[in-house]
Amino acid sequence: MRLERLRLLLPPLLTLLFGISEASHPCDQISGSYNDWSSNAISKEVVVVGGGIAGLAAMKTFMENQVPNAVLLEAQDYLGGRVKTHREGSILVEDGAEWINGGSSNRLYGLAQSLGFLTQPLQTSDYDWRTKTSEGDDANAAGYDVANEVFNECEEDSVKINYRETGYGQCYLDRFPNWYDNGLTSPDEKAAWENYLHMWVLKDTGTNTWMDVSGRDADHFTDWGEDKWNQWSQGFDALTNHLKSSIPQNNIKTSTPVCKIFWDSDPVGKVLVVTATQEAYLADYVLVTASVGHLKDRHFQLFDPPLPSNYQNNLNNIELGVADKVQLGWQEPWWDTTQKKPLNLHIIFKNFNLPAEQSWLYGIMEFLSIHQQTNMLQAFVTGDKARQMENMSSEEVKEHLLSHLRRVTGQDVPEPTLFRRTQWEKNVWMKGSYNSYIPVTGDAAGLTSREPLAKPISNSQGVKVIHWAGEHTSNTRYGTVDGAMDSGETAAFAIIDDMDTYY
Ligand SMILES: Cc1cc2nc3c(=O)[nH]c(=O)nc-3n(C[C@H](O)[C@H](O)[C@H](O)COP(=O)(O)OP(=O)(O)OC[C@H]3O[C@@H](n4cnc5c(N)ncnc54)[C@H](O)[C@@H]3O)c2cc1C
Repeated sequence: MRLERLRLLLPPLLTLLFGISEASHPCDQISGSYNDWSSNAISKEVVVVGGGIAGLAAMKTFMENQVPNAVLLEAQDYLGGRVKTHREGSILVEDGAEWINGGSSNRLYGLAQSLGFLTQPLQTSDYDWRTKTSEGDDANAAGYDVANEVFNECEEDSVKINYRETGYGQCYLDRFPNWYDNGLTSPDEKAAWENYLHMWVLKDTGTNTWMDVSGRDADHFTDWGEDKWNQWSQGFDALTNHLKSSIPQNNIKTSTPVCKIFWDSDPVGKVLVVTATQEAYLADYVLVTASVGHLKDRHFQLFDPPLPSNYQNNLNNIELGVADKVQLGWQEPWWDTTQKKPLNLHIIFKNFNLPAEQSWLYGIMEFLSIHQQTNMLQAFVTGDKARQMENMSSEEVKEHLLSHLRRVTGQDVPEPTLFRRTQWEKNVWMKGSYNSYIPVTGDAAGLTSREPLAKPISNSQGVKVIHWAGEHTSNTRYGTVDGAMDSGETAAFAIIDDMDTYY
C-alpha cells in the first residue's frame, strides 16, 4: 500500500522538484477560463516567464528603469535555467553553460573580470594529452590536427556563407578527406578521425548529424574567432547571483510554473497569467523567456487563444538540440599520480563493436578535466545518443563509462567518488539543451533567421502584449549565455518604450 502511494506520488514530485517528467505535466491540473481566474488576479505592469539569464537580465533592466511592479515567475526551484553550477566536496561542475567563448569580445569576459571571477584558459601543454583508439591502442595524433584545422576553417563566416543551401556538415565533408590524405600516413584511421570530427561538431550543435543544421542559420552567428575558453572561477552561477542582486526578492517567485496565458480575452487588453500554484496575474505585458524546447512542446496548452499561425509555423521550423554531460570525479587523478596534470583524452573508433546498450558511447570523442580540476573528467554526449543515455539508469551509465575508460586507457580506473549526468531533454521546462537551430527543412520552409521569433504579438486592440526573449531569439548569438542576456535586455527596453506609448 505504501509502495503504491509512493509510485503515484513520485512522478509529480520529480517533475516539480527537478523538472524530470515521467508522464503527466504539472500544468495538466490547471483548467478554467479567463473569467474563472480574472477576478482574483494580482495586477502587474509586467510578468516575466522564466528565470534563466534572459529573464533575469530583463528583470534587472525593469528594476533599473523605474518599472518596479514586475514579477518573474520561474517554474523550477532555482534561478539560472541552463546556467546551473553544482558543488560537491572539493569539485565544482557545471550542468549547463561552461565557457565564456570569444575572449574579451564577449561581454561576459569583462563582467567576470570586473567581479574578480575570470580564469584564463590552460595551455595544451598543461594537460596530459592523449589520442587513443576505443580499443586502447595509440592513435596518430596528426589525425587530431587535421580535424582541428577543418573544424576551425568551417567556423569562419567567409566559409559558412558557401553552405547556405545545404546542411552545414557538407563543409567538413568537402574538406576532410583531401586534407587527411595530404597530411597523413595512417589510412586505416581515416574513417575513424572523420567520425571523431563529426562527433566534435555535434558537441556544438546537439543534433543527430552534422547535416541537420542549415548553413544559412550558422551564417548569422557572430563568431569571434578561435575560442579562448575563459571560465567563471567560482562557477557560472556567479552571473545568476550578480543579476539577481539587483532584483528585490519579492519580485521573483521560483517553483511557480506558468500554465496559461490568456492574451486576448481581457476587455481592456491586459494579459492574464495563471500558474500551477493557482495564482493569477493581470499584466500590461508578458515577456516569455522559456526555452524553445518548452515552447514547441507546450504552446498549444500555454496560450489562449493559440498563437497566430505564422508564429506557430516559426516554432515548428526551429529545433533545440540535446547535449548532455557526464562527469566523474576522484580523490586523486588515477591517470597520472606523479605529475597530477589534468587529462585531455581523445578517442577514435576504428571498430563499432560495443554491445548495443553501450552504443551511446560512440558519441564521446573526448574526456576532459574541467575547471582546472586535476581530479575530474567530463564528456559530452549529444542527439539520439544523449536520449539513449538519459533513458538509462544512472548506475548503468556509470558502469558503461568506467568499462570504456578502462578499455581505452588500459588503466585500472577506480570507482569515482563523484558521478553525475545531465538529463536536459527529460526536463519538461527545457526539452533539450543547445543549440537552438534552424534545420535545413526549416530554412526551406521560410525561417531563415531568428528575427521572426523575437517579434512581439499584438492583441486585437493593437497592443504588443506578448514579448519574447531567450537565446533562441538572438539572431547573432543564439545558443549562448551572452546572447540570452542581450535578448532579455533588448526585450525589456522594447516593453519600456511601448509603456511610454500606451500608458
Ligand atoms: C550543457 C550546456 C552547455 C552549455 N554551454 C555553454 C557555454 O559554454 N557557453 C555559453 O555561452 N552557453 C552555453 N550553453 C547555452 C546557455 O546555457 C543558454 O543559451 C542560456 O543559458 C539560455 O538562457 P535563456 O534564459 O535563454 O534560457 P533558459 O536558461 O532555458 O531559461 C528559461 C527558464 O524558463 C523556465 N521556464 C520554462 N517554462 C516555464 C514556464 N512555463 N513557467 C515558468 N518558467 C518556465 C525554465 O525553467 C528556465 O529556468 C550551454 C547550455 C547547456 C545546456
